[in-house]
Amino acid sequence: MQLVSEVSLERPRAVSPNGMAAMVERLLILAPHTDDAELGCGATVARFLEMGVDVNIAAFSTAEASLPPNSNPDRLGQEFLRATKTLGIPESKTFVYNYPVRQLGYHRQEVLEELIRLRREVKPQGVFLPAGTDLHQDHQVVHLEGVRAFKDVTVWGYELPWNHVTFSAQAFVRIQLSHLERKWEALQCYQSQLELGRSYFSWEFVAGLARLRGTQVQEEYAEAFEVIRIKC
Ligand SMILES: [Zn+2]
Repeated sequence: MQLVSEVSLERPRAVSPNGMAAMVERLLILAPHTDDAELGCGATVARFLEMGVDVNIAAFSTAEASLPPNSNPDRLGQEFLRATKTLGIPESKTFVYNYPVRQLGYHRQEVLEELIRLRREVKPQGVFLPAGTDLHQDHQVVHLEGVRAFKDVTVWGYELPWNHVTFSAQAFVRIQLSHLERKWEALQCYQSQLELGRSYFSWEFVAGLARLRGTQVQEEYAEAFEVIRIKC
């Protein structure tokens, strides 16, 4: 197992995925919107599932207002279930809330209370959530309330580069091409977002970012995380 003290804040080093799995048997991924978890840590989730980690995922908004015109209002909710199933997460491990997109700030206390319920129900030893420097207003709410609700466990922040001016890549999870392909397969379940032509919904972007993060730690591919708290 990689010792926590070996995760340097000054010089990024690879944390062995096996080491992380040994530290964390049950994970909870917090996604402000239905696609954030797959975008931010989809390949890491694929890797951890392969290693037998119990992965749970909660999405706080199905973002009805971010759909192409004339879409079924629950389109993103349905795409989320397909995407998480593609990653390998059973429906019983998914939690979907229907807060309005860009308005989580108006429901901050309710979000906190849901997080506390999740803490009791899931009892995760590790939580992944948006990084602290994420500029999106909904992502900030989930970050702040998530760090607050899960004071007693390891917390990592995932990156969504289009929402950052800065991101502190402090921990790296090595991934294989197969995990990256699984991530892309899951992302392709979000047909509504592909239709909107978002530039980060492309294999070029997904693979390019993983190559960049991998190159920083002399690996072929990696996903990078902000280390918010480590408990082991
Ligand atoms: Zn989002």
